[in-house]
Amino acid sequence: MTPVAPTDEMSSFEAVNWFFDQSARRLGINEELQELMRHPWRELTVSIPVRLDNGKVKVFTGYRVQHNGARGPYKGGIRYHPKAELDEVRALASLMTWKTAVANIPFGGAKGGVVCDPGSLSQSELNRLTRRYIQNIAHVLGATRDIPAPDLGTNAQTMAWMMDAYGQLHGYTPGIVTGKPVELGGSYGREAAPGRGLVYCLEEWASLTHFPIQGTKVVVQGFGQVGSWAARLIGDLGCIVVGISDINGGIYNPRGLNVQDVLAYSLSHGSVVGFANADAVGGTELLELPCDILIPAAVENVIRADNARRIKAKVVAEAANHPTTPAADLVLQERGIVLIPDILVNAGGVVVSYFEWAQNIQEFRWDEDRVNQELAVFMKQATQGVVETAKRDNISYREAAFSIGISRVARAIELRGFV
Ligand code: GLU
Repeated sequence: MTPVAPTDEMSSFEAVNWFFDQSARRLGINEELQELMRHPWRELTVSIPVRLDNGKVKVFTGYRVQHNGARGPYKGGIRYHPKAELDEVRALASLMTWKTAVANIPFGGAKGGVVCDPGSLSQSELNRLTRRYIQNIAHVLGATRDIPAPDLGTNAQTMAWMMDAYGQLHGYTPGIVTGKPVELGGSYGREAAPGRGLVYCLEEWASLTHFPIQGTKVVVQGFGQVGSWAARLIGDLGCIVVGISDINGGIYNPRGLNVQDVLAYSLSHGSVVGFANADAVGGTELLELPCDILIPAAVENVIRADNARRIKAKVVAEAANHPTTPAADLVLQERGIVLIPDILVNAGGVVVSYFEWAQNIQEFRWDEDRVNQELAVFMKQATQGVVETAKRDNISYREAAFSIGISRVARAIELRGFV
């Protein structure tokens, strides 16, 4: 395949494959194996008829994409979002394949999505939608086949409904989904895991590269499950959070924000906007604020070729999935901005999902300290691997992470004798 110059107009799946191609080519993986790893193994699109509270039936569309299962059961979240679409679910499924491989946990990659606006549906509508979606995809799921988890717009309650719907068909199977409520076999520490994993990753990266992280200024874009935990926990490294945004806008105080107060404010007001002792900034403007570490923790494609030139951070740590387009990635590299990629930084969520699954199939429970200690081990080992590979081969951290992931998946395919 001839390399093409990336643009912001690429679809999400093209963009992820651009990163894939770059690393697979450099590794010298043969074309046939590359082709096999680029394509999803199975894609399912289902209709989900739901009776709304007003008595009318509405048909929603749902997807489940199983990208690669060479290293273990397919694994990945399910998002509920009005703009969910097959190409994006495919891209995110592929990222899960490389993420589980970089983290070295025994899973493949998958992702699901339902096109809906969860904020405009009642709890009972969401319950019915979730059950019907699971019934319609249950034949490709299983605790040793494909294990969903939360993602944008879904949470522990959604997972509880999924477990129940699957259990009605197959009997009690807690290992069918991860990210469940603790009362139903969820793992302690799962909710905070993506944020905590990010902190372990940054801590290890800073120590390996002698980056003075103490006292650095951090901006967090997105204040949902991932962003709010990252903002809360990054203070453990001595960092100061100066900017936070959510879907409604952002707040900035160069002297530092009290994250606990911001959280309490956002819980009672439904947004960080209006928080006292801070200036109001627009969501896009927030990415360009002066800071040392920028943490995009919201949605895809927010760092693009145009705004990448205006980013002032020294380090970008991708807590969201695919927040940077390949074209922006090149601009950041050119400008000497260090980028620590999503498939490493946000792997904490799926690592603790692995612990949850392992606890479920053993019908055993770990306490939160044990979960966090084991998470630290996985995140630090994965970070060491990426930093060492980047240094040895003189490549970016993203290329290093993809290279590690691709090599592990390629080896698993060869050992299984797939081709
Ligand atoms: N949705 C999360 C992710 O993108 C978690 C996936 C999982 O735990 O399976 O990594």
